[in-house]
Amino acid sequence: MDPSPLRGLPNMNSLLEHPLLRREERGRVKVAAQKLLDKLRSEVLSGRLDRVPSAEDCALLVLEELKRKGKPSLRGVVNATGIVLHTNLGRAPLGQELYDLAREVYSGYSSLEYDIETGTRGSRYAHVEGLICALTGAEAAMVVNNNAAAVFLMLTALAEGKQVAISRGELVEIGGSFRIPDIMARSGASLTEVGTTNRTRLPDYEAAVHRGAELLMKVHTSNYEIVGFTESVSVAELAALARREGKPLLYDMGSCFLFDPKLPWLPECKTARAGIEAGADVISFSGDKLLGSAQAGILAGRRELLEAMKKHPLSRMLRPDKLTLQALEAALAIYQYPEEAMKRIPVLRMLSVPQEELLDRAAALVLKLSDLRPDWEILVRKIMDETGGGALPNVSLPGYAAGIVPRGRSVEALEEELRRSDVPVIGRLHRGELLLSVRTLLPGDEERIASAIAGLPD
Ligand SMILES: *Cc1c(COP(=O)(O)O)cnc(C)c1O
Repeated sequence: MDPSPLRGLPNMNSLLEHPLLRREERGRVKVAAQKLLDKLRSEVLSGRLDRVPSAEDCALLVLEELKRKGKPSLRGVVNATGIVLHTNLGRAPLGQELYDLAREVYSGYSSLEYDIETGTRGSRYAHVEGLICALTGAEAAMVVNNNAAAVFLMLTALAEGKQVAISRGELVEIGGSFRIPDIMARSGASLTEVGTTNRTRLPDYEAAVHRGAELLMKVHTSNYEIVGFTESVSVAELAALARREGKPLLYDMGSCFLFDPKLPWLPECKTARAGIEAGADVISFSGDKLLGSAQAGILAGRRELLEAMKKHPLSRMLRPDKLTLQALEAALAIYQYPEEAMKRIPVLRMLSVPQEELLDRAAALVLKLSDLRPDWEILVRKIMDETGGGALPNVSLPGYAAGIVPRGRSVEALEEELRRSDVPVIGRLHRGELLLSVRTLLPGDEERIASAIAGLPD
């Protein structure tokens, strides 16, 4: 092949001495420049590139790389996907208020394991236990790192070496390799499968108990629904059986509310209190799904079972951080006043925001962006948002977005440019448009989107 295009490639020295790069640290420039030159060389040799960029363009590319490298990898983004609990974008946003409270505890010393009243050692669980009990009706409670940990702890501490009866329709995989049968095997409990995938009845559980099952377990099928010819046993029926037989009932609720938010689009609302009232002996649920606080697994239920879990050595490994506890305590304190919670817990607010408000916000965003890019096609679009986080699989939330068709670039290129801008803006591509849903925008996000778009080359 003709090697001549390679001759146009700037050499390392000319890049190191380039006026655009002279003020940057030499070692970093060298690494970035070497990487760029290697990439260009191999692209030319493989025929993918027939003209190399000028020295000026190469210097700009190096500068861009240095800028990108200088930013932390984990950083804030604008979630314009309309998916409220977006698993890849950090699930529940805490919001400014909860964050400000948590920050105070995190930046200095705190009463994490200190009883301020008596001046003696305290328990890290004490800060939230009373609130969880008051909000769920449970006798006792504790918090671990996440709900997967909560399920693992409850099985390890309460069911090691014992048979646990669970419906075949509830042997779920939640994602990120959390599979109930695997968790059970790791915990040392043995799984007694009950019923069939689509139908499980009370006598199936009774038979399992008579064959030696010492615990009953129910798992909420968070991310799918079995429809059609189906039958399952309610928590209350299962609890009655558990009581008759003197066996504990464990209930992994996954994601639940702490009160019924009475949302029209929500067919049936699952609250933690309902799990306890139906008679589960221990329930577990996530702190950062529908509850809308920090990543945590909450365990609540009968006192002696909670005591056994608190004392188990595993709980030391699964214990939550002080930031988590503070964010959780602050959220739970707000939850004591449901009306306040609807306004001040961002997840609840996003789930309940009225249609008219979403429409107004989308219209305002469209106007703002159209001012910046009068030649682009930017329109209000009616869309379907989602709860996400495997929380309510079949619930769609009617919402509104700014739908953008740019000029001078493809919509895919725009999606990438916005995703890679200083504050990344994450939207969704749909039928040749970039949709920016307003439901999941937090205060200030409209300005962030506008400045990302204003900062793009024409
Ligand atoms: C989400 C979920 C889990 C895992 O919870 P994490 O907080 O993600 O660890 C476990 N069980 C159910 C039913 C869930 O929905």
